[in-house]
Amino acid sequence: MNKPTQVVVGEHTFNIEWGVAADDIFGRTQLRQCVIQINDTANTAPSQVRDTLFHEILHAAFVGEIIPFAPDEEERVARVLAPTLLGILRHNPEVVQFLLEK
Ligand SMILES: [Zn+2]
Repeated sequence: MNKPTQVVVGEHTFNIEWGVAADDIFGRTQLRQCVIQINDTANTAPSQVRDTLFHEILHAAFVGEIIPFAPDEEERVARVLAPTLLGILRHNPEVVQFLLEK
């Protein structure tokens, strides 16, 4: 499957940059520029790459300090929610299809 190059989060379209490996991060979200960078180099497992993208999308969703996270709390919430929500989406295609109906 092709890697997506954009994701819409709320009112913003984030460009997704792949292969960014300036340091040892898995991913990074630059809110001001609406850019999500994903490090999919260095033999990163595909499941880790997908988890990282969803993790960064959650960071993008938390923009604007709508949720007043304590320091490091946003990171912990994203780390828990990303794999959990991905698992729900992956294992419940009927539910996902129902939810996305218009
Ligand atoms: Zn994070």
